[in-house]
Amino acid sequence: MCGIVGYVGDREAAQFLLEGLTKLEYRGYDSAGVAVFDGENIRVEKSVGRLAELKEKLGGNIPVGTMGIGHTRWATHGRPSDLNSHPHTDCAGDFVVVHNGIIENYLALKEELVKKGHKFLSETDTEVLPHLLEEVYDGDFEAAVREVLHRIEGSYSIVFMSRRDPGKLICSKQDNPLVIGLGKGENFIASDIPAIIAHTRRTYILSDGEMAVVTKVGVSIMNYAGVPIRKKVFEVNWNAEAAEKGGFEHFMLKEIHEQPKAVRATLSARIEKDESAVVLEELAWDKAFIDGVHRIFIVACGTAYHAGLVGKYYIENMARIPVECDIASEFRYRSPIIDDHTLTIVVSQSGETIDTLAALKEAKRLGSKTLAVTNVVGSSIAREADQVVYTWAGPEIAVASTKAYTTQLIVMLLLGLYMAQIRGSLPKERIVELVRGLKEIPTQISRTLEDVDPIKTFARQYGFNEHVFFIGRSLDYDVALEGSLKLKEISYIHAEAYAAGELKHGTLALIVDSLPVIAIATQKSVYEKTLSNIKEVKARDAVVIGIASVTDTELEKYADHVIKVPETDEMLIPLLAVVPLQLLAYYAAITRGCDVDKPRNLAKSVTVE
Ligand code: GLU
Repeated sequence: MCGIVGYVGDREAAQFLLEGLTKLEYRGYDSAGVAVFDGENIRVEKSVGRLAELKEKLGGNIPVGTMGIGHTRWATHGRPSDLNSHPHTDCAGDFVVVHNGIIENYLALKEELVKKGHKFLSETDTEVLPHLLEEVYDGDFEAAVREVLHRIEGSYSIVFMSRRDPGKLICSKQDNPLVIGLGKGENFIASDIPAIIAHTRRTYILSDGEMAVVTKVGVSIMNYAGVPIRKKVFEVNWNAEAAEKGGFEHFMLKEIHEQPKAVRATLSARIEKDESAVVLEELAWDKAFIDGVHRIFIVACGTAYHAGLVGKYYIENMARIPVECDIASEFRYRSPIIDDHTLTIVVSQSGETIDTLAALKEAKRLGSKTLAVTNVVGSSIAREADQVVYTWAGPEIAVASTKAYTTQLIVMLLLGLYMAQIRGSLPKERIVELVRGLKEIPTQISRTLEDVDPIKTFARQYGFNEHVFFIGRSLDYDVALEGSLKLKEISYIHAEAYAAGELKHGTLALIVDSLPVIAIATQKSVYEKTLSNIKEVKARDAVVIGIASVTDTELEKYADHVIKVPETDEMLIPLLAVVPLQLLAYYAAITRGCDVDKPRNLAKSVTVE
C-alpha cells in the first residue's frame, strides 16, 4: 500500500531507487529497503523506520549495480521490523520481490511451501512470493512468474527480480497502482508517478491482470497467459505536486476516491469463498469466549467514534450483545462499570490517539478484554490491546478522515457478523444476504463517486450559508453525525446533526427560511417517520437536500433536491450514504477557499490530551 520502485539501465540503480522512494515519502511508511543486482549477486539492504535510517545503515557502502528494486512498507501482515521489511528473497537468494497490498491466500501457500522445506524469515504475506517462485522455477523466469500470478489471490503490485535472468524486471498488478516510466536505454517502475517524473513523462499505466517484462531497451506487456497486449503511452502532464495527489487536487479527494479499493482490501480474505460467512482469522474466538462477553464498550474519538456508533447498531442488531459507545476522553473519567465479562473495542485510524490509548489502558486495568481496530500495524494501540483487527485502508494523509471511516464501518460489520455466527443469533440466510451485499459495496461506492456534478452545484449554492442541519433516524442519524463533522472540520460551516425525531423537542426553533437541511432517509424501518420530520422542516421553509436509495420515489415529493445512492441492504447503506456527504463537505470547503487537507487547528494524529 506504500511505495515501489524499480530500475534497469546503465546508471547506478541504488541512486534512482533511493531518490524515487524519497519522492514517495509523503505517503507515510514504516520501513524501507532496496535490492541491487551487480551482475552476479543480489544485495538486499533494508531497515525499519525512515529512509534516512536505511541511508545511514548503508553509509558510504551503497549497493553497486545497474538493476534493482526498492520498497517503502506500510505493514499489513507482521509488525514493522527489519526482517519484515521488503525486499524478500527465496531460500537460495536467486529471487527478490517487493510487493504492495495483500496476498489473501498466503497462509495456505505458506503451509504448502513450508512442507516442501522452504524456510521463512518474516511474518509477512509477501514472503510467499519469492519462495513460490523458487518452487515453480524451471529455467524460465517469465513462465515461473506467470505461474505465481495464477496461484495468488488478493490485491497487489509486485516487482520480481532474478539472479538467474539478468537484465530483466517483471512486474504485475491487481487493484494496486503500478506505472512503467520509459527512458532512453533505461526504464523505471514505480507505484506512483512522483517517483519517476524527474526522469520521464512517458509512461505505461499497467492495468489489472497485466504483466510487464522490463529491460533497459524495452517493455513488453502481456496477460497472465502470455498473450501480448498493445498499450498506449500515457504522457504525464501533471506537475510534481499534482502527481503526489494522483492528479487529484487534494489528498482528501484522492482518499475519497480510494474508498472502493480500501474497502475491497479490508474485506479481502475475510469472506468465505462461497460467501456463506465471514472469517476473522486474527481473532479465532469460540463460543466460550463470546458467551463470556456480557457487555461491549466501543471507545473512540471523532470520526472513529462515529464509526463506533454504527458498530453499536451492528453488534446489538446481529449478535444481540449490549453495546455502549463512548467518547474516549469521557469514558476514562466516568468510572465505567467493567469486569472480566466486558469487551472493550477501541477504534483509532492512527493507533496513536492518546485519549483512546488511555481509555484502553483504563479498561485493561479494570479487567476488560480488549480489541483494537486500527489502520496502523504495530501502533501503540495495536500493541496495547489483547487483539487487533486492522483496517487495510492504506495511509491516510488528509486530516479529515474518509477512507478510514468507511473501512472502520466494514470492520464493525465484520465483527457483528462474526459474533452473530458464533452465537447463532442471526439466521444463516441473513448472513449470506449481508455478505453478498458487502461484496458489492466497492463497486457501488465507485458508482456513487461517478455523479459529483449535482453535489458541486449544491456546494456552490449553499456553501456560504453559516448554518446547516443534518437529520436522520437510526443508522441515518449516525451517518448524519459524520456528515456534519466533515462539513465542520474542513469548511468551518456550523453544522448540527440531529436525530430527526428529536428536532421538535427544541431545535425546530432554529429551522428558518432557506436554511439548508440535509435529510438522510435510507432506513426503511423508520422511513415514514423521517418523511414526517422532513415535512416539519419544509413547513418552516428550510431547503431540504435528501439522501436516498436509487429506488426511492417518495422523497423528491418533499425535498428540494435528492441525491441517490445505489440500492443495497439498509444495514449496508451507511457505507454509500456517507460518500455524498464527504463530497459535499469537500466542495463546500473549496467554495469557501479553505485549506482542505490541513484544516485550521486540527492535526492528523491527536497525541495530546
Ligand atoms: N502486505 C505486505 C506486508 O505487510 C505489503 C505491505 C505494503 O503494501 O507495504 O509486508
